[in-house]
Amino acid sequence: MKEYQLFDQAQIKAVEEAVSIAEELVSNYFKMSSSQWFKSRYDVRTTINLADHERVVGPFAQVVGYEARKKDVPFGSSAFNFYRVCLQDGTILKAVEEKEGFQLFPFVLYVVVHELVHVVRFTKFQQIYEAATTHETAMEEERKVHALTLKILKPVRLAGLALILEYYGERSVKPGFDKLV
Ligand SMILES: [Zn+2]
Repeated sequence: MKEYQLFDQAQIKAVEEAVSIAEELVSNYFKMSSSQWFKSRYDVRTTINLADHERVVGPFAQVVGYEARKKDVPFGSSAFNFYRVCLQDGTILKAVEEKEGFQLFPFVLYVVVHELVHVVRFTKFQQIYEAATTHETAMEEERKVHALTLKILKPVRLAGLALILEYYGERSVKPGFDKLV
């Protein structure tokens, strides 16, 4: 079985903080009228809390879609789509280690903003999620999400972030950045 490098305690804390800033930035940008509602449509997990099928080798993260049901509501009446952002600790740590100047906190912020932009678009337009499984629409969706991510993060002043935006900015997002399931 494949061994995955996991975030340590201190790294988990940094990741949690980056996730909460990412949530705030994304829900402000899209003027989500109810951030509570938005938050009930997804969660973000690191590798230790992922099921086998939520782990993937290569991408920094993947978004896995589920059909969920509200508790306390009769069966069949209230199915909704739920998305799990599955962070791949090992791949993220490898990038931070190998790419000059990359730091964990701003890099995770970058990755999570990107994934949450996908989630917002999926919750607003379900057909995007369905279409994203074909190659061409997936690439088109990646380009849009990438552009929005840069727009959201450009005004943010955070040590180490400018370098990451510069790394990804000029070129379009790398194939294999993430995976949508
Ligand atoms: Zn993406």
